[in-house]
Amino acid sequence: MNDFRADLHCHSTCSDGTLTPIEIIKLAKKIGLKGLSITDHDIIEAYKTTLPIAQEAGITLISGVELSAYHNRTSVHILGYSFSTESPIIEEFCLRHTRRRLDRNRQILTLLSKHGVHITEEDIQCEQGSKHTIGRPHIALAMLKKRYVNSIQEAFHKYIGEGRSCFSSGGYFSVEETIDVIHKAGGLAIIAHPHLIENQQTLNDLLSMNFDGIETFYARFPLPQNEKWNKIAEKKNWLITGGSDFHGEIKPTINLGCSWINEEKFKPLLDHFIKAQERPLEM
Ligand code: AMP
Ligand code: ZN
Ligand code: FE
Ligand code: FE
Repeated sequence: MNDFRADLHCHSTCSDGTLTPIEIIKLAKKIGLKGLSITDHDIIEAYKTTLPIAQEAGITLISGVELSAYHNRTSVHILGYSFSTESPIIEEFCLRHTRRRLDRNRQILTLLSKHGVHITEEDIQCEQGSKHTIGRPHIALAMLKKRYVNSIQEAFHKYIGEGRSCFSSGGYFSVEETIDVIHKAGGLAIIAHPHLIENQQTLNDLLSMNFDGIETFYARFPLPQNEKWNKIAEKKNWLITGGSDFHGEIKPTINLGCSWINEEKFKPLLDHFIKAQERPLEM
């Protein structure tokens, strides 16, 4: 055994995390992580600058993204790993998500104003100048700042959580299409946090799809709860992944590295990433 730990699930300021990609790499080094993937929602911007910085810090960084999809009218998150960071296919897919989110956020703001909650588009702009994903956490934060709610949880619970009065998904991307995009970009498609999927039919459907792996180790779920997903992965000969879903201050109870995988589980993802980066680009 060695002390290799890789956290393959976290969010930066490129989506709804509060640390920049570089700050996440510095923190990963400080806490002794050796492997990392930054899995922002529907955007791969973090990889524009960080690969050489991670290398300098002695952190092995593999490409990652957490893509939003829908199945049976249920929201499903899909992790993509080890795709080529230069892939135009994944870049274009993320751009489609950005457009979806722009419309969706406008719909949510309109619904909120009908409920007496007045948040403007400027209120939910991030300070960062670069490209980034704007999501419901940004809306929740603006509601908190303007004192419409006392906590982010309250914003989700009362207004913008799935199925609540001001929720909008703003168009659907299917799980099948999402898996296909990840594969075309040379990557691996993984079921994110199966622990959180409540709809049994959705889960059964996902387990019969063309995934490459499952996120067995997640956030602060205790090991016995992960065992179920490990067994499924073994049976299907799927990869086993894991990570914290760290978001920084916005989710203060989740620390970077609170969930991780060892070197043996990380190696196939790393090998795949190296191959994807070497491959000539698909057009
Ligand atoms: P979006 O992708 O814009 O629909 O926002 C989804 C994100 O909102 C998730 O990835 C979580 O980070 C966050 N989120 C979802 N539900 C809740 C909740 N009940 N409380 C706090 N954050 C939540
Ligand atoms: Zn998030
Ligand atoms: Fe997620
Ligand atoms: Fe996440």
